[in-house]
Amino acid sequence: MSTEQSAALFERARTVTPGGVNSPVRAFAAVGGTPRFMRSASGAWLTDVDGHDYVDLVCSWGPMLLGHAHPEVQAAIAAAIARGTSYGTPTEPEVELAEEIVSRTPAEQVRFVSSGTEATMSAIRLARGFTGRDVVVKFAGCYHGHVDSLLASAGSGVATLRGSQAHTPGRPLSVPGTAGVPAGSAAETIVLPYNDRDAVTEAFAQYGTRIACLVTEAVPGNMGVVPPAPGFNSFLAQTCREHGALFISDEVMTGFRATREGGWGLDGAIEGWVPDLMTFGKVMGGGFPAAAFGGRSDVMAHLAPEGPVYQAGTLSGNPIATTAGLATLQLATDEVYERLDATAATIRSAVAEALTAAGVPHVVQHAGTMFSVFFREGAVRDYSEAGAQDTATYAAFFHSMLDQGVYLPPSAFECWFVSAAHDDRAVSAILDALPSAATAAAT
Ligand code: PLP
Repeated sequence: MSTEQSAALFERARTVTPGGVNSPVRAFAAVGGTPRFMRSASGAWLTDVDGHDYVDLVCSWGPMLLGHAHPEVQAAIAAAIARGTSYGTPTEPEVELAEEIVSRTPAEQVRFVSSGTEATMSAIRLARGFTGRDVVVKFAGCYHGHVDSLLASAGSGVATLRGSQAHTPGRPLSVPGTAGVPAGSAAETIVLPYNDRDAVTEAFAQYGTRIACLVTEAVPGNMGVVPPAPGFNSFLAQTCREHGALFISDEVMTGFRATREGGWGLDGAIEGWVPDLMTFGKVMGGGFPAAAFGGRSDVMAHLAPEGPVYQAGTLSGNPIATTAGLATLQLATDEVYERLDATAATIRSAVAEALTAAGVPHVVQHAGTMFSVFFREGAVRDYSEAGAQDTATYAAFFHSMLDQGVYLPPSAFECWFVSAAHDDRAVSAILDALPSAATAAAT
């Protein structure tokens, strides 16, 4: 497969952009090879600058629930653009999109921002402003955007919590997970192993009066898909309530994707727990930069202009983005989710069958329509287990699929996404490519 044009663009890009990309995973560093520069997309398909077509199992990292360039979404966007692209005033589509989100989730109010990172950053500021406390609890392997205080490694904080050593006042709870984050930002973050109730109980026993909030992905998808153990989210909500901390459910990835009601639809809607705050992004922007945070109206009332917690944005609630998001959600009916579920199930079992036939150790995990494949044996319950997989095997599998025209996430730790536009032709192309990709993975 010729990648001449992509390679040439990558070289030009590297001159003017660090690593040649505007988000690190796009550089193919984890799998090697030339990142494909895409020229266009339609339905379930991407077309690169060398003219190759790929069935897309990344879907822009989640947003493209209906597929690319959906005609009705495109028409709504075109009509909105014809009316101007940004006014810096309140608009009707913002109200309609907020109403749609509130009708599908337990959030009573939402505030729009432009990225998932901004949503979690703002939710944490609000939680701190509301509670008057500083400490944030998160789980290793959960990604909440590149918020300074959330880019903390498990480090000494977890060792302190899990070990016999008592925490020394003044010593940081955690250490930065990347250069450029001041130690002070991570110092107020506690990082715990996912699905570990004892770790949560210990953390709250020791720091309960200082904890402003616990933030978790509704279903972690950023270490691959690692479903919460039954009752785990409910336990987190309860623990937060007992200690006067806020429970923040990050639905940037799962929102309107895992189910019609997001990750909350998988357990919260059934078990009856409600997060204090939630964050949304991806699908709700219909392919544009739009995100939101929301939740209890008494907490949201602490936001400016009503309350003392400042938060703002020049392009927040942009009319094109909110129009695209609204059109997407209005078209995302129960039938769409049934179709996504069926497509995802077909692909999941075909992947498992092909890898089993080739003798490649693997486990496929899913939550609603989201799924991922771990190249290891045994269920994955937390970040350490997710890390214990064979990434070189994934790279071989990935490249074989790519060469056969299937675009998978260029990292073993990412979720696979399907769209309602994945029809029989797209699914057949995936199924046909699997046996030789499994063989490539086995060698
Ligand atoms: N939260 C979760 C769960 C995410 O998956 C992501 C991005 O993948 C974010 C937050 C950050 O969103 P964004 O990339 O829009 O800043």
